[in-house]
Amino acid sequence: AKQQGRNTLQTFTQDINQKLTQRVTLRNDLQEAILNEQFELHYQPLLTRGGQVQGFEALVRWNHPSKGAISPVLFIPIAEETGQIIALSQWVMERAARDFLTLQPQLPSYCRISVNLSPMQFHRPSFLNSLTATLNATGLSATSLELELTEGILMNDTDAAIDTLHALREMGISIAIDDFGTGFSSLSYLRHLPVDKVKIDRSFINNIANNSKDAAIVQGIIALAHHLELAVVAEGVETLEQQQQLAALNCDVFQGYLFARPMPFETLQVWLKDHLKG
Ligand code: C2E
Ligand code: CA
Ligand code: CA
Ligand code: CA
Repeated sequence: AKQQGRNTLQTFTQDINQKLTQRVTLRNDLQEAILNEQFELHYQPLLTRGGQVQGFEALVRWNHPSKGAISPVLFIPIAEETGQIIALSQWVMERAARDFLTLQPQLPSYCRISVNLSPMQFHRPSFLNSLTATLNATGLSATSLELELTEGILMNDTDAAIDTLHALREMGISIAIDDFGTGFSSLSYLRHLPVDKVKIDRSFINNIANNSKDAAIVQGIIALAHHLELAVVAEGVETLEQQQQLAALNCDVFQGYLFARPMPFETLQVWLKDHLKG
């Protein structure tokens, strides 16, 4: 048993060491990735209940020279820790703005480009100025931008966060709360927040067709959001059943593999050709 215990401890330590090494390596590689433009944006369409394109979410991809594609779930947290997220986010915002401007002539005027915000980015004192500078530099109108924030961003430093949200909305930027339902926040806080949309987290959508509790939660979120005059987006819609159930609950906007996967800009341009006609 003693031997066994030692072995387990050894494996455990090796495991931690491996993870640490991996993180340190990624951290160094990130520095180079930012300099050498190893990032790419993929875009996933958002559709109205009637199937009209209403916008696209920009999702960052890292094409690592030796490790291949690395998920943002892995590298975004590291970039947050090291502060590298600031440079990365700046790149994302500019790239997304320029790509969207290329598409804009073909799009209905209400379409927006959605960009994910990181907590560090949002809480920086220079955030509003730097965003305004990027809009001016690229020519993207504030009314063509939607920012996605998680509940966590809004939980600490609430007064300052609310001031920032007001300023963003005054500019004409739309605000969506991402991953809604996964935070431990009470729903009532929504009432105090100047936001436009909630995006119900994929984990609730997943089981909506076969788990009555998840279905009840989704129904509750949609009803509450509508009472507060917020639009509701369902993310991660993968099946027709899920779509139908969400439509029956009056969900406003749909996003998920059922409609389109996140895709490179060139693929999106082809996809749009098919989806804008008629
Ligand atoms: P998120 O903002 O919640 O993005 C939705 C994630 O769900 C994306 O994963 C998307 O590819 C995936 N997804 C969309 N539809 C479906 C579906 O039908 N089924 C399933 N199973 N998944 C679906 P992705 O691209 O790996 O991004 C993961 C997370 O990384 C994002 O979650 C977001 O938190 C973060 N992220 C991505 N790009 C950026 C960025 O530019 N900046 C920041 N700060 N975070 C980003
Ligand atoms: Ca998002
Ligand atoms: Ca989400
Ligand atoms: Ca998420």
